[in-house]
Parts: sequence; C-alpha cells; structure tokens
Amino acid sequence: MVRMTTLFISDLHLDASRPAITDLFLEFLRREGPAADALYILGDLFEAWIGDDTPSPAADAVAVALKAVTDAGVPVYFIRGNRDFLLGEDYARRSGMRILPDPSVIDLYGRPVLLQHGDLLCTDDIPYQQFRAQTRDPAFQAQFLSQPLEARIAFAQKARDASQSRQSEMKQGDRAQFETVTDVAPAEVQATFARYGVDTMIHGHTHRPAIHELQVAGRGCRRIVLGDWYEQGSVLRVDADGMTLEAL
Ligand code: MN
Repeated sequence: MVRMTTLFISDLHLDASRPAITDLFLEFLRREGPAADALYILGDLFEAWIGDDTPSPAADAVAVALKAVTDAGVPVYFIRGNRDFLLGEDYARRSGMRILPDPSVIDLYGRPVLLQHGDLLCTDDIPYQQFRAQTRDPAFQAQFLSQPLEARIAFAQKARDASQSRQSEMKQGDRAQFETVTDVAPAEVQATFARYGVDTMIHGHTHRPAIHELQVAGRGCRRIVLGDWYEQGSVLRVDADGMTLEAL
C-alpha cells in the first residue's frame, strides 16, 4: 500500500459525558489510521488524566484502537496537553504511542516542523504559566501520583473548579482582554520561530483553528492551529504537496 498522508489532531477532550466524540474518534482511527504515514496527537486527547491506573472504559477502548493503528505499522506520537500532562509510559505502551517532548521538531516530508501543544505560547497568562511550571515538576508529579485515587480525583475537581471560576471572572471582566490572554502571545510566537529556526509550526490548545501566515525577521512562516473536538472533529492532513485543515 502506498502511504501518503500524515495526520495531526489535538484537543479531543475525550470524556464520558460526550460519548459521541469518543465514537467519532474510534471511527476516525479505524477509517484513516491504517492508511496514514503517521498520526500525531498534540495534547488534550483526554479531558482529564489523573494517572494511568484510573479505571476508564473509554480510555481502554481508545488504547485498543490506537494499538490497532500502530500494529498496522503506522507510528502514533503524543505530546502531552495541559489536561492530560500526567499521561504516562504505561498508557503509552498499552496504546503503542510514543510520547514526544513539548515542543519537538520533526522532519515532515523533508522539512523541519515544530510541534507543540500550544500552552507554552500563552505567556500573557502568568498565573497559568506558574501553575504549569509547578505541575510539570517531576517531584510534584511523583508525589501526586503516589496518592490514592480518591485523593487525586478530589484534587483534580478542585483544580478544575478554580480554573473555571477564574475563567468566568476573566470573561466577566474585560472580554477583549480575556480573548488576548487566552490566545498565543504574538511576541512568543515570533521568539519561538526564531529560536528553532523553522518556518512551520503546528499546535492546538487555543481552540482557534486557522492557518496563519506571518513574517519573522523577513522569513515567511506558517503557524497552523488545530481545532477542538467539542462539536465535531478537526484534522490537519499533510502530504508532500501541501496541507488541509478540515472539520470531520
Ligand atoms: Mn489545552
């Protein structure tokens, strides 16, 4: 079989409360997975993740479906998001995924491309970046994961409540400022292109799907933002000739 397309998705936020989206994803994996060159999942595959030992029939079904793709010889790569940053090697092994660092530069049909979840670009949200630094600390994670499941569930619920009330506070304040703070910081985008010397970047996180063309120190650059899977699917298909960002 001639393989020709690399698939990029992110922000599925799979959750028991939206089974139709899990079904859509399982169908997507069955239909498109085995025919792809590779599949990249750029974070927030799951709405929440508090340890690979958490019982979840949906996560089990997803692992089986991903494993079928990798067993067909198609590599699946995963970059952790801000919701599923605790997804570990155990689940990766069960699903056949390889976990990549955030960010990572890959070779995509002969061109270097920077991949990341996208939250690192949101540097105007200072409290979030502090939270991110704290929760990515290996010592913090080891301590958290050593707690019993009930304690982890309670902590995650508290963190979610705090984040939601902070978001609604920000929305009730200056709406325009909320939109700016929760989007990427343009200066950080410029700095990231310059730091890695690439002209293409793919990320998710902001749920603002688009292909942005921009100039960085006189170079034409492209930033592709993947869409979320709240109401429908979103996939970026790339081959040697170009790319398309589509809704499913
Ligand atoms: Mn995210």
